[in-house]
Amino acid sequence: MSGRSGKDSRGRQHRHKGSSGNGRASSRGGGTPLAIAGVPVAVGQQVVCDIVGLTHEGEGVGRVEGYTLFVRGALPEEKVRAEVVSIGKSFGKARMTELLVTSSGRRDAPCPIYDTCGGCQLQHLDYAEQLRWKRQHVVDNLVRIGKLAVAGEDGGEGVIVHPVIGMNDPWRYRNKAQVPIGFGDGGLIGGFYEQGSNDIVEMDACLIQQEENEVLVRAVKEAARLLDISAYNRSTGHGLLRHVVVRHARTTGQRMVVLVTNGANIPHVQELVGLIREKVPGVASVCQNVNTAVTPVVFGEQTRVLWGEDVIYDDIAGIQFAISPRSFFQVNPEQTERLYSKAVEYASLTGEEIVVDAYCGAGTISLFLARYARRVYGVEIIPEAVEDARRNALLNGIHNVEFAVGAAEVVMPRWQADGITPDVIVVDPPRKGCDPALISTMLELRPERIVYVSCNPSTLARDLKLLEDGGYRAVEVQPVDMFPHTGHVECVVGICRVDT
Ligand code: SAH
Repeated sequence: MSGRSGKDSRGRQHRHKGSSGNGRASSRGGGTPLAIAGVPVAVGQQVVCDIVGLTHEGEGVGRVEGYTLFVRGALPEEKVRAEVVSIGKSFGKARMTELLVTSSGRRDAPCPIYDTCGGCQLQHLDYAEQLRWKRQHVVDNLVRIGKLAVAGEDGGEGVIVHPVIGMNDPWRYRNKAQVPIGFGDGGLIGGFYEQGSNDIVEMDACLIQQEENEVLVRAVKEAARLLDISAYNRSTGHGLLRHVVVRHARTTGQRMVVLVTNGANIPHVQELVGLIREKVPGVASVCQNVNTAVTPVVFGEQTRVLWGEDVIYDDIAGIQFAISPRSFFQVNPEQTERLYSKAVEYASLTGEEIVVDAYCGAGTISLFLARYARRVYGVEIIPEAVEDARRNALLNGIHNVEFAVGAAEVVMPRWQADGITPDVIVVDPPRKGCDPALISTMLELRPERIVYVSCNPSTLARDLKLLEDGGYRAVEVQPVDMFPHTGHVECVVGICRVDT
């Protein structure tokens, strides 16, 4: 049920699309080349591969005569037999046909749909090993891209990379499910897009999803079937129900359902709401979002309440958040608390500081920081998120925060011109990292400390290099496992100004 939503607004990168090689190539009528001069393997060939690494997409990195083959499902230290599926000049892809040497970290993935779904990439690796791998992935990026010295690597000094903070029970953590609806043999179905396609596969259980969400999605599907509500057909653009989005607030137990529909009118809407509420008593909000566009984007512009409240409330470390159908809210609340506590720790505030929270979303980190700072300025590009941030500040009686809508790289120089001089800057950018203009402004403002929260180790490493070249030093990195069983890892970095 994580569907394609595992990364929320931060997007998802697909690497290794396969560079179709240049040079002399033989191909099947101009398609993917079957053989390339200088490449030691050909498409269709069976090879024996040593697996030497793991990509963040969870593919094993295989080597055959120095050539790299990505093999899904294979783990480091394994030896596999594989069939070459595609090749390019510098790397190719292969399908594992036989496991010849098994890693001691290999586990049976507990999820029955693990192979078709693609929402998780690491279930076949022991959880403690996943955490070790994620730390190493961070270290490798810092060394290779950031050119940073990492303490303990080669026995020397450098930035400290702590062990990853994992979950005690790394299952059933997601508080939000975004389920695409479509047609199956028996009528309306809902589940996930099959890996690499737009086909929807029916799903009943997702082991990284909170059970409360599962029960609710099941209830909505059953009610829709009973009332003959049509499923959206992505090929023809006909049919009504496109997505079912559900959220569960861990601390209050409130649940929200959003029906994303291809048109404003839902037949038997009152019966539908009645059935959902009857089956799942904890529902506090049933909303409708209309999306008639031909687009993979889930939500359209119009949202209305069908029954109950327009928001549900959740709590992170004593701060309340109102969550509306389209609000950004972290999907793993338990780990979010750990992540933000680290950010606050690295900010080391005394109550006197002026703090800037760039890329502030709905103000989550800003509100955490505000408790310990004189004033916090948050900036965020999405207007609705800033509305949420302001509402959340009021809800908690926090008055020493101010939020601005706009691009951080544009708003920060404006603040600079207005004489706002932060002691600490916190950044939490999307996957592509900080805008270079923002880094320049930070270097001009020269705050004492910078805290960098990152969801992408490679852009983190790139930006840390710029900061180090500009007179800052990355002191310590705390990786946090926000998305167990996926290749993602979140980091908080404490960075200080080097005074000369
Ligand atoms: N700190 C928040 C959100 C982090 S996600 C939290 O933890 O909840 C990154 C945020 O950056 C998103 O909300 C995205 O809308 C915003 N964003 C993307 N580009 C931006 C830019 N150039 N300037 C300001 N915000 C931006």
